[in-house]
Amino acid sequence: MPEFRKDMILDEWVIIASERAKRPEMFREEKVKIETPSGMVCPFDKGNEEMTPPEILRMDLNGDIIDKSDPNWQIRVVPNKFPALKPVAAPGTKLYGMYSIMDGFGLHEVIINSSEHILYLSQLSQPQIKLIIDVYARRLREIKKDSRIESVIIMLNQGKDAGASLEHTHSQIFALPFNSPVLEKELRGTLRYYRLHKNCAVCDILDFEAKENKRIIFENNHFVIIQPFASRNPFETWILPKRHYSNFENISKEETQSFSECLKLLVDFFYNELSNPSFNYYIHTGPLHTKTDHHYHWHFELIPKLSIKAGFEIATGIDICITTPEDTAKFIKEKLKI
Ligand SMILES: [Zn+2]
Ligand SMILES: [Zn+2]
Ligand SMILES: [Zn+2]
Repeated sequence: MPEFRKDMILDEWVIIASERAKRPEMFREEKVKIETPSGMVCPFDKGNEEMTPPEILRMDLNGDIIDKSDPNWQIRVVPNKFPALKPVAAPGTKLYGMYSIMDGFGLHEVIINSSEHILYLSQLSQPQIKLIIDVYARRLREIKKDSRIESVIIMLNQGKDAGASLEHTHSQIFALPFNSPVLEKELRGTLRYYRLHKNCAVCDILDFEAKENKRIIFENNHFVIIQPFASRNPFETWILPKRHYSNFENISKEETQSFSECLKLLVDFFYNELSNPSFNYYIHTGPLHTKTDHHYHWHFELIPKLSIKAGFEIATGIDICITTPEDTAKFIKEKLKI
């Protein structure tokens, strides 16, 4: 029987279509799909630093900030050369006839994940991935000082199908003067849940899933990797912090270590065991200047590009998932031998 399942964070329904279901192993191909490097001069490589706009931050593998002339860098943060948003514009709306317009105010930064020309996150070591997470938190704490910025999205597109415009592995940070519609929805959904149940939806998910043990893939001291109950996409995977807190930038040192272990495990799984699909991942974190501590719980979502949204999904906003999260969790655990 196809089933409507409710996502308790977004407070919306999805369809788990077990009738037309694909077995998780059907997404696996014979060979790992590796895109051929384009061979073009890459602005993100060591030695080509002058090809990017003036950098914001440069760090070595130890996580120390180093001088802009030091060639031994592991990670750099630069403003996007073709930004979707600009920091110079003034906030505030104007009218254009019946329409509203606002200057495209905000920040659009690029985090060059590695000084080597590497295409896939799985080709980086866990300490290198930990450094990327460190930089995410560090940039957020810095961006937070600007009271005009209300919300931030941290994301990574990997592979052509995920919309990565440059093949060299990089992350992006968008800072907005308001909450994105998805964040608004999550804030409303979790507030509604909090009022009804006097508890945080994500904390309750963690409790329930630990008891059920059908969708949890892995856990360590501070994080849980899980297939969401109301999964919207085949192999959609979340990493949830066990500690309740709304804002990612408050992640501790030990948590960063734990998170990097989860992220490394996950990207290695997709690379080695699922033929390296393109994917998008992002961090949903609470607004920077509005307190949402009691009901919001930051989290990480990874969506591999394994299916295409068709008319029904676009027209209704109801996603159809053609795998069950229970089968997928089982499949991943078998492959990872955990
Ligand atoms: Zn490169
Ligand atoms: Zn919570
Ligand atoms: Zn979310």
